[in-house]
This record gives sequence, C-alpha cells and structure tokens, in this order.
Amino acid sequence: MKLLVVGGGGREHALAWKLAQSPLAEKVYVAPGNAGTVMEARVENISITTIPELVTFARQENITLTVVGPEAYLAEGIVDAFKAVGLKIIGPAASVARLESSKSFAKAFMLRHGIPTALGKTFDDAVAAHHYLDQHTLPVVIKADGLAAGKGVIVAQTPQEAHDAVDAMLVENRLGEAGATILIEDFLEGTEASFMVLSDGRNILPLATSQDHKRLLDHDQGPNTGGMGAFSPAPVISPTLHAKIMREVISPVIEGMKHEAVPYVGFLYAGLMISNQGNIKVLEFNCRLGDPETQAILMRLKTDLTSLLTHTVSGTLDRIDIEWDRRVALCVVMAAHGYPDTPRKNDVINGLDILQTDQAKSADFRIFHAGTRFIAQNSPEIVTAGGRVLGVTALGENIRLAQRLAYETAGKIYFDGAQLRHDIGGGT
Ligand code: ATP
Repeated sequence: MKLLVVGGGGREHALAWKLAQSPLAEKVYVAPGNAGTVMEARVENISITTIPELVTFARQENITLTVVGPEAYLAEGIVDAFKAVGLKIIGPAASVARLESSKSFAKAFMLRHGIPTALGKTFDDAVAAHHYLDQHTLPVVIKADGLAAGKGVIVAQTPQEAHDAVDAMLVENRLGEAGATILIEDFLEGTEASFMVLSDGRNILPLATSQDHKRLLDHDQGPNTGGMGAFSPAPVISPTLHAKIMREVISPVIEGMKHEAVPYVGFLYAGLMISNQGNIKVLEFNCRLGDPETQAILMRLKTDLTSLLTHTVSGTLDRIDIEWDRRVALCVVMAAHGYPDTPRKNDVINGLDILQTDQAKSADFRIFHAGTRFIAQNSPEIVTAGGRVLGVTALGENIRLAQRLAYETAGKIYFDGAQLRHDIGGGT
C-alpha cells in the first residue's frame, strides 16, 4: 500500500522511517519532508503543503492511509477534507481537535466529563480580566485560547507580569486571533509528565511512556522551545500512576467524545501535572504525537506501525498487541543558531555522510532530520533550514548508555552555531 505522512519535522521523519519498514508499505510519501526523509528507502518527498493539494495528491496516487504530524492541519480540518472524499486518515476531525486548538473548549470538555484540571476562567474583555486578576493569588497562569506555537502561556509571578500578559493578548493583540480569548488558570505545583495513546474511537492503546525537555538550556534554563530532547520510558510514570492516568484522564476523553457523537480517532497526548501526593491534573491536550517524544518512542516500537495504523482506521485496535524494545531510547535535538526566536538558515552540516554509513550497519542509533535541506539539486551537501535541525536518537541498555551513544553521535556532527543541551535524560 501507499502511505502519506503530512509534515516535515523530526517526528514526521521518524514516522516515515518506521512506516517504510513494514512489508505492507510499498511507498511512503512525505509532504513536504526534509533532507533526511529523501535518504530513506521507499520514501519520497513531495513539495506540497495545502490541504486541497494534499487531497488531490492522495486521490491521484491512491494513498491507502495518511497520517498527520503538525496540529495546524488538524485544526484546519484536514481530516474532514480527506474523509469527505472517502480517503482514510489518522487524526481527529477539526471539531474534536479543538481539544488542542481551543483551551477554553478543552477546559469546558474536561469539566463536563469530570477530568481533573486547574480551575480556569475565560475572558475576551480586558477590564473583566484585570478585575479577576486583582482578586487572584499568585502565581497565576495566563493562556491564549488558540494555537500559539508554545508562546501562548505566561506563568506570572507578579501582578505586573499578569496584567501585562492580559494587555499583550487582549489589548495589543500580539498573538492575533489565537489570543483574542484568554484563559486565566490557577497555578499548579508538581512534576510534569506527558502521556500518549492511540485510539480508534473505541479501543485505546497506550504508547510507551516518555518525557521531554522543553527549555533551551541545560538545567531547564532559558526560553521554552518545541522540545530539546526526550527519552523513553519515563520512570516518573509508575504502573500505579499509569493506571490512574488511563482511568481519570484518557478513558474519560475517549468515552466523552463517543458520548458526544464525535469519536476520537488518532493520537492523543495529555500534558499532566502530578502533585507530590500523586494527584493528576491535565495541563493541556495535544491531538497528535509529540516532537521529539515520537523519535524516542518509535526507536523502541517493535510492532509494525503500518499495521497498527491500519487497525486504527478499521476500528480494530483490540486485535493488535503492541510490543516495545525493553531498552531506553534517548533523543538529543541539535538546533540552529538563534533558535527559538530567529533560527538561522543555510549553515552547512558536516559529518552526516560518515554517520549515514555507520547508521546502515547499526540499529542502535538514528539521525532524524527536521529543519534540513540539500543545498541544491544533485548536491550531497545538506544545510540547516529550520529551528530544530536534527534529533540524534540512540538505544541503550539503560539511560546512561543511551545517553552516551546519543552524545557520542551528536559529537560527530558539526554546523556553525549548533545548540544542544548536555543534560537530556539528566545527570550530566
Ligand atoms: P505546548 O507548547 O507544549 O503545546 P502550550 O502552549 O499548549 O504548550 P501548555 O502546555 O498548556 O501550553 O503550557 C505550557 C507550560 O506552561 C506547561 O508545560 C507548564 O510548564 C506551564 N503551565 C501551564 N499551565 C500551568 C498551570 N496551570 N500551572 C503551572 N504551570 C503551568
């Protein structure tokens, strides 16, 4: 069968790589992909990005199954557009994807279905928001309602910061439509964890646990990013906690959507805060896989991903057992100079050619590309083309060994201005 992966980051490279390993997969297209996906066997990049173009392509090429990486496509209704013409696609409809694209929708849904979350109130009027803040204790969290690529959440420690955040969103419109409505939420304390599952609308298959590192610099310093690294499994999610998250968060979402007659089909990601007492509260939902958690998780997936996704669209996930490599996988992100604010493009990346040969001989590490491209057609030279450039991912018998191999491998790659954390997985 022919498959299509929508997106061009590290998550999509990992998806394409894994799908193409299946004997069921004749060809995997990636739209638009990157320099890494070009180099995978049975994978081809196609330089289209709009939903109508993707629908036309999938029809012309008889694509059996499409999987979507980035959230913006889901919010724009790619699943609805594909389904309207009878094409199979993994992901929730736009109305369901509001769990991610509208924080006020998510909050109301959680309240309706008894899913634990911080107390929050929605505002579109600055005067009312300022008044509410005056009565509120600190710290307090101000969130833009819509998708803001990680820039829409301010954890305010002082009244000034809180009032400024309200003005930035509701008065100065700095986040545009995404910040035209805001949510003022109680601050939660604890340890953050994320949890991902795959659902066919009825059955739920929990994926291997993982943890990511959001801040740019070592020891969780510096600005927030899309994610500077990840590892799997995440020891913070004990078997007891795993069962509790399934019971209190994941099942109520899938059941709740079924009850509201809009079944949840696709990947669901819950961002959670775990208190010292072991109580769980939901910080956010994402309606797709995390990046770079996916790179770490897919390194450990032993089950055929193409078959897994085929069962998802057929509603038969109960017929499949998911198997994971018991080793630890760890992904170190190498980002461009200036990331996250103003990533520089066109820095030449050295060292990839030798590693490409080594990689062919070893199943213990993979270099997943994100913002990369070939400098010119028919040229072997690869340059940076985005914020996060590479995700160097390695397997090890324990976290230290996975860490050692990932960092040794990353150390063989060089580009001007490369930024990477030295403490992914902790302890360095
Ligand atoms: P992402 O970029 O991960 O998609 P987002 O912009 O959707 O994030 P959230 O995940 O809701 O936003 O929040 C981002 C971060 O802000 C969280 O990872 C957490 O560290 C912090 N945060 C959010 N809500 C709260 C809260 N109620 N209490 C404490 N910290 C919070």
